[in-house]
Amino acid sequence: MSILKVTDVNKSFAGLKALDAVNLEVEAGKVHAIIGPNGAGKSTLLNCFVGRLMPDTGSVDFDGTSLLGIKPHQINQAGVARVFQTPELFTEMSVLENVMIPAFAKFDGAFRINAWGSIRARAEIRERAESVLADIGLIDHKDEIVASLSRGDKRRVEMAMCLVQEPKLLLLDEPTAGMSRADTNNTVELLQKVGTHITKVVIEHDMHVVFSLADRISVMAQGTVIAEGRPEEIRGNPKVQEAYLGG
Ligand code: ADP
Ligand code: MG
Repeated sequence: MSILKVTDVNKSFAGLKALDAVNLEVEAGKVHAIIGPNGAGKSTLLNCFVGRLMPDTGSVDFDGTSLLGIKPHQINQAGVARVFQTPELFTEMSVLENVMIPAFAKFDGAFRINAWGSIRARAEIRERAESVLADIGLIDHKDEIVASLSRGDKRRVEMAMCLVQEPKLLLLDEPTAGMSRADTNNTVELLQKVGTHITKVVIEHDMHVVFSLADRISVMAQGTVIAEGRPEEIRGNPKVQEAYLGG
């Protein structure tokens, strides 16, 4: 069963066709990778899932309802969380505080009135946040200021901020970008270990990461999906090799 269905999505920027009749179906509970050369339209597509961009035409349905024309926070409330290409963190706050904030936003209505909610909600949310930090291997750093963390640990904090919301769909835009090989391997391990029931869409450049994680792969080039299939089908696909070699 598909949890995310993208039908015939088009998006242009001042005459440049960034997305050209994109179709994509993501099966619930699977890891679906989107790969393709720089400028292929991968981030633009992801932006259409989270209310940052509105497609010119086409539809994006999540869990049976349209994601188009609703606000980013409503999409988030519906169960879609996203890890950005560059981390968006509260760098002067502690790791634990960073992870508690999205949990308040998701689970405690009082958040809108009083930034830290009721005392009871605060204790419960602290527990949720600490449990995610334990899963993700950051519990020993919970009181550290985010600015002082390594790049790899910052990404972990961001991942924890998503996981604490218990999303149905997790979108990751180049989660290993700029990471060392060791951090990349840690991230792969983490993504294999945490949130195994969560559907994941991963945009990724690193083929080692893609082939370690993905159940299915869509290949984009010049704004459109040029191939889709299981990793072993994609690996030998001549169209894919051509797109990467620029041929
Ligand atoms: P990818 O993530 O696959 O590298 P992008 O989705 O970022 O590609 O970009 C696809 C194309 O759309 C590129 O040519 C890019 O320059 C263009 N583009 C993306 N966002 C904008 C924007 N906000 N305004 C104008 N052009 C954009
Ligand atoms: Mg991108």
